[in-house]
Amino acid sequence: AKYKEGMEKTRKSFSGRINDLIARYRKVDEDFFEELEEVLISADVGVTTVMELIDELRFEVQRRNIKDTKEVREVISEKLVDIYYGDDNEVIETLHLLENGLSVILVVGVNGVGKTTTIGKLAHRLKGEGKTVMLAAGDTFRAGAIEQLEVWGERAGVEVIKQNEGSDPAAVIFDAIKAAKSRNVDVLLCDTAGRLQNKVNLMNELEKVKRVIEREIPGAPHEVLLVLDATTGQNALTQAKTFSKATNVSGIVLTKLDGTAKGGIVLAIRNELNIPVKFVGLGEKSEDLQTFDANAFVYGLFA
Ligand code: GDP
Repeated sequence: AKYKEGMEKTRKSFSGRINDLIARYRKVDEDFFEELEEVLISADVGVTTVMELIDELRFEVQRRNIKDTKEVREVISEKLVDIYYGDDNEVIETLHLLENGLSVILVVGVNGVGKTTTIGKLAHRLKGEGKTVMLAAGDTFRAGAIEQLEVWGERAGVEVIKQNEGSDPAAVIFDAIKAAKSRNVDVLLCDTAGRLQNKVNLMNELEKVKRVIEREIPGAPHEVLLVLDATTGQNALTQAKTFSKATNVSGIVLTKLDGTAKGGIVLAIRNELNIPVKFVGLGEKSEDLQTFDANAFVYGLFA
């Protein structure tokens, strides 16, 4: 229900326009495909992905000898799901955490995308699954970032390891790992800085943080989650490309899906970068984080 509510804007806009298209055209022809292309692009599915999708739709419509636009709706849904998964199996991706011992999750992303909020939500979620959780205040750059993380820590009832603003993030993470080990914590969530004014510095800093984690715990970080803001559309795609070049991103958290009518960006991210969207943010509260289910997402669009 939460999912449906959160996707309301995208659903309304998308299904409204598709239904309108189907009603107006009746027959599947070139003009129909062209308008469908526009609808998909305006939902932020991304030009590259839309082109692929339209090609496959054309092929499928011919293969099944579909003439009536009413029958094409089902094919569109199928192809939207296909394009999300590509050659992979249709599994809902979640976090890969250790059964025993400390798992480390590095959370990266540009300021303002909802990184701190996401860490808070994840802490709440993992605690709800019976895990012990600790937060590391690795964004020592942005004013107020540490305090904000502490607020989320309190809300979720988990400890936050911090140092002063301006201190070395790698040192904070080092401390946090030591603390997490000594307290037998299951999951350590590491916040990081997100200033993009100096991309090179930021990427070097992330690299250093990652090295510390790798050195302290072989096999860690177990997840590198990139947080992206769905309302920034194609910008999110650009950020994903920048970050995935610098670090091995294992999953994406797409925030603020509730605030956009352009949820199609989910499909573009997966198709163009081949990084799974593991969670979506559907609001500002602790419980507003859902695992991403492409089938539910796509079929929800037409509901
Ligand atoms: P950070 O700078 O990346 O750490 O971003 P914050 O966590 O401070 O979030 C920035 C703003 O986005 C805050 O006002 C959050 O409440 C809001 N926000 C974060 N995630 C979501 C979401 O999924 N939905 C909505 N509607 N707002 C969100």
